[in-house]
Amino acid sequence: MSTTVITGIGELATNDPTRVEEGGLLGLVRDAAVVVEGSRVAWVGPAAEAPAADVQVDAGGRAVIPGFVDSHSHLVFAGDRSAEFEARMTGQPYTAGGIRTTVARTRAATDEQLTSHVARLVAEMRAQGTTSVEIKSGYGLTVHDEARGLAVARQFTQDTTFLGAHVVPVEFQGDTTNPEDYVDLVTGPMLAAAAPHARWIDVFCEDGAFDVDQARAILAAGSDSGLRGRLHANQLTYGGGVQLACELGLVAVDHCTFLSDLDVESLGDSGTIATLLPGVEFSTRQPYPDARRLLDAGVRVALASDCNPGSCFTSSMALCIALAVREMRMTPAEALHGATAMGAAALARDDVGVLAPGKVADLVLLDAPSYVHLAYRPGVPLVAGVWQAGRPVVPG
Ligand SMILES: [Zn+2]
Repeated sequence: MSTTVITGIGELATNDPTRVEEGGLLGLVRDAAVVVEGSRVAWVGPAAEAPAADVQVDAGGRAVIPGFVDSHSHLVFAGDRSAEFEARMTGQPYTAGGIRTTVARTRAATDEQLTSHVARLVAEMRAQGTTSVEIKSGYGLTVHDEARGLAVARQFTQDTTFLGAHVVPVEFQGDTTNPEDYVDLVTGPMLAAAAPHARWIDVFCEDGAFDVDQARAILAAGSDSGLRGRLHANQLTYGGGVQLACELGLVAVDHCTFLSDLDVESLGDSGTIATLLPGVEFSTRQPYPDARRLLDAGVRVALASDCNPGSCFTSSMALCIALAVREMRMTPAEALHGATAMGAAALARDDVGVLAPGKVADLVLLDAPSYVHLAYRPGVPLVAGVWQAGRPVVPG
C-alpha cells in the first residue's frame, strides 16, 4: 500500500484526546507530520521523527486540520428560493411553509437531475474542506419520492437520514384528510420504503410542523425499523423537542436556539449533543443559540451547516465557525472541535473527525499558519488542499 507523508506542518490539529494535556482541546502538535497509508492515518507526530514514505508533501509551515464533519444538511432538492430570501431580507418573517415550494420542484425533478444537483453540492463542500456529510431526505414527502431521495443521497454518504416528517404536505391539509393521516403514512409505508436507504430518522419538531407526541411516535417507529433517531427542535420557539431528545437518549438534537434552564440541564445530564446551526440564524435574522451557556453547563456542542434551499443555503463550515466565534462566543478551538470531532460524535462516528493512527485520513491543509484564521479571516477561501480517505481530492 502506498504511503504519503505530509510534513512541514506548522500547526496540526489532531482532536486526539491523548494529546489534550500538551495540545489543549484540539490536541495541537507544532512542526508536525502525518503519514497516510492507503485510506488511513498511519502515524502522527513531530516532523523530525516522521518515518519515510513513498510520497512527500511539504506543508511549508501551514496548518492542517481534520476534514470538517457536517452532521446536518438537506442536499436532495430542486429549485431555487432566492426570491424568498430576498423577501425575508426586506422584512417578511421565516416560517416552515416555504418548504412546500421546494417539495413541488423536487417531486417534478428526474432522478438524474437530483443526483447531479447533490453531486455539485457535495463537491462544493469538499472544496471547502468538508470530507464527511450527513444528508437528509424531506422534500419528497411521498413514499416514492422519499425513498428515491435517500437512494440518491446514499451514493454520496453512509449517513443518510429519513426526514419524511419535515412538514405535512399540502395534500394532507384538505377537508377530507388531516395531519395524523400523514403521520400514519410516515410511520407505515414511507418508513418501510425509506429504511433500506437510511441510517437515521429525523423529525422537524416545531409549531407548523410536528408536535412532541407525533415526533415520539415517528422516532419509535423508526427505531423499530433499525433507524437511529435525531431531531430538529427548539429552532423557532420554546418547546418540548429538546426534552424528548434527552429522554430518548438521542445522540444529537439540532438547532437548540430557544432553551429553558431545564433544557440546558437535561442536555448536560443526558450527553445528547446540541448541534448548533448558526448559518440559519445568520440567513433568517433570528437570534443565535447561546453556545456559551451550553458549553459552560457542560453540554457537548457540534456545529453544522444545515445547508438547505430555504433557511440557510451555505455549505461553508468555515462560515459556521466564524459565526460561532463572533456571534455565539465559542472560542476558535471550541468551534473547530465542534465542526470536526463533535460533528463526528453527533453522527456516532469514531473513524472520522480525529487525526490519529487508524482513523480515516481526511485532512485539510489551510493556507494559513493557524486554524484560528478560519474565524479570524471570515469569508476568505483558506482551503489549500484536501485529502479524503487518503486521496488528494483538492490539490495541496
Ligand atoms: Zn435542518
